[in-house]
Amino acid sequence: MARINDNFLKLKAGYLFPEIGRRVGAYTDANPDGAAKLIKCGIGDVTEALPEAVRDAMNKAVDELGNRDTFRGYGPEQGYDFLRNAVADNYYSDLPVTADDIFISDGSKCDTGNVLDIFAANGSNKIAVTDPVYPVYVDTNVMIGNTGEGDEDGRYEGLVYLSCTAENNFVPAIPEEKVDIIYLCYPNNPTGASATREQLTAWVEYANANDAIILYDAAYEAFIQDPEVPRSIYEIEGAEKCALEFRSFSKNGGFTGVRCGFIAIPETVTGADADGNRVSIKSLWSRRTSTKFNGASYPVQRGAEAIFSDAGKAQVAALVEHYMSNAALLSEACKEIGLSVFGGENAPYVWVACPAGLTSWDMFDKMLTEANVVITPGSGFGAAGEGYFRISAFNSRENVIEVCKRLKTYLK
Ligand SMILES: *Cc1c(COP(=O)(O)O)cnc(C)c1O
Repeated sequence: MARINDNFLKLKAGYLFPEIGRRVGAYTDANPDGAAKLIKCGIGDVTEALPEAVRDAMNKAVDELGNRDTFRGYGPEQGYDFLRNAVADNYYSDLPVTADDIFISDGSKCDTGNVLDIFAANGSNKIAVTDPVYPVYVDTNVMIGNTGEGDEDGRYEGLVYLSCTAENNFVPAIPEEKVDIIYLCYPNNPTGASATREQLTAWVEYANANDAIILYDAAYEAFIQDPEVPRSIYEIEGAEKCALEFRSFSKNGGFTGVRCGFIAIPETVTGADADGNRVSIKSLWSRRTSTKFNGASYPVQRGAEAIFSDAGKAQVAALVEHYMSNAALLSEACKEIGLSVFGGENAPYVWVACPAGLTSWDMFDKMLTEANVVITPGSGFGAAGEGYFRISAFNSRENVIEVCKRLKTYLK
């Protein structure tokens, strides 16, 4: 008898996006006119074409593979030096992170999930997540047995939930209790909030004082507009002793389908073994990577490298500008009709308080059936997201202008 991992049975079966799909399907089946007008601002996927510099580099790499003399087979599991160097030089030049600390991967969703391989499972670590939260952090902890059962709100026993509310500007307060691993994501999905230097400093100090590790997801770093907002956790003194940083080319370079990202792990981040001896997290991740991964594909890594060329930087800047102008239009439209708007300034997500008396799902239904616009209900990201909805700025300008028009028509 092959016994399964029972922890999977605790999962609340990917509730959010399937439920959105179900409601959209039911509405469009019954309303062909509404279906024809439907605009999706729900899932956080990019919409604009892959930058030319990236395509050129990938085409060239494919041609190299087509020639026996320049063909490459298995590459280094941790990534090619050309890309690790480009990442270190461009993102971490004045920070305590070297090219050797960079581990190239097929994206941050995988990395934030896979990283749990190197930490003790089955509840040995006290895990803290924000609420609302990127569901991957929670579900991967459920899978390895770090939680008990989930409740009606989708909260799992055993996890520490850090509420993010308008009162704390969607950056959680430092917990009273001691935790071992903390997931932070700034700029944030879904709230669009960014964390200040002071807030991140408090977290790094907490982590070092409590011998905890911060898993810092900076997937939206490229969207930061405010020069005062830290772009990397390593801008905070002491982070090199307690933080791993996850980054992805998905949102800046449009790599959601191409797949490439990385983790930065400075040598000085350590955890404890069963006897309390200090062990380098980097050495464990390196070992894990060599065993379970054969590297991101060569053309993809060449494409990612091209993001750091002059042409690539200009093209990425144009993409960011496009999405952030969309965010500004959406924020403005929501403000004009009197809604409380958050995010959208350093992240491509606008987080909006529902009109009085409406829950997140009420708002979802209203937007779907009246405005024919798909948004994401805040409660789908956690109990503290109730009463909010998220509008993604990843869209064409034409669609965004139309969504703004409909917001003003149907929510006045
Ligand atoms: C989009 C996103 C990522 C990036 O995921 P990839 O697997 O690299 O595409 C990481 N974290 C968050 C919170 C995201 O929204």
